[in-house]
Amino acid sequence: MTNSIATNYQKIIDRVDYSAKIAGRNPDDVKLIVVTKGQPVEKMIEAYKAGARLFGENYPEETEKKLEELRKLDGIEIHMIGHLQSRKAQIVAGSFDWMHSIDRLSIVEKLDRELQNSGRTMPVLLEMNVSGEESKMGFSAWNQNHWNSLIPIIDQIDSIKTLSIRGLMTMPPLSASAEQTRSYFKVLRELRDYLAGKFKNIKWDELSMGTSGDFEAAIMEGATFIRIGTAIMGPRPKKQMEIK
Ligand SMILES: *Cc1c(COP(=O)(O)O)cnc(C)c1O
Repeated sequence: MTNSIATNYQKIIDRVDYSAKIAGRNPDDVKLIVVTKGQPVEKMIEAYKAGARLFGENYPEETEKKLEELRKLDGIEIHMIGHLQSRKAQIVAGSFDWMHSIDRLSIVEKLDRELQNSGRTMPVLLEMNVSGEESKMGFSAWNQNHWNSLIPIIDQIDSIKTLSIRGLMTMPPLSASAEQTRSYFKVLRELRDYLAGKFKNIKWDELSMGTSGDFEAAIMEGATFIRIGTAIMGPRPKKQMEIK
């Protein structure tokens, strides 16, 4: 068991490098986030020893419990990748390094207030719903004819000094076929290019897309952050998963 996280980690690194080369991209431009929601801090330390530095977490209260140990690990970054409830914004503003899941304006205002209180700023990604599935979080972006309705929203986020927009994030529906999933990644990249044309002052350099099952397709379509949990950490413990 002790070896398996290290072995899994290395296998994923090799697959990332291979896919990047096939895509004609520099492997260094694809940053691997190890998703550790529901995983005990001991297993995160194992991943750290294997080389992981970027960790993705979904539940701030769970992360908070692991922070004391995590702060001992030099050079790590904690990325918030899940839907953020307003009352947990303080934890993210105080202790996280990146926020991938800006999915509504109310969370932007809340984060801004908390960041001002803690005297910090934060790079953020805007979560886009490019599939149209009802249950998915994110700004509506499945109808390309309505992409212009995102402009006033982004204008508003861009005016907030504690947040710097760095790109887009998406999470395709679990039910999507491999082919559909890749097409959603492609649409996210096209949406990024569209927005980059409208907001030339913003650095749209990051695309957060791809998980254990589909990261290779995401790399082909331009992912710069991939978010991989089970393929490295193994299955998530059931009990921990229910922590909200
Ligand atoms: C859990 C999660 C992942 C990781 O999924 P795996 O299938 O375990 O790789 C990636 N992104 C988000 C937003 C998640 O919630």
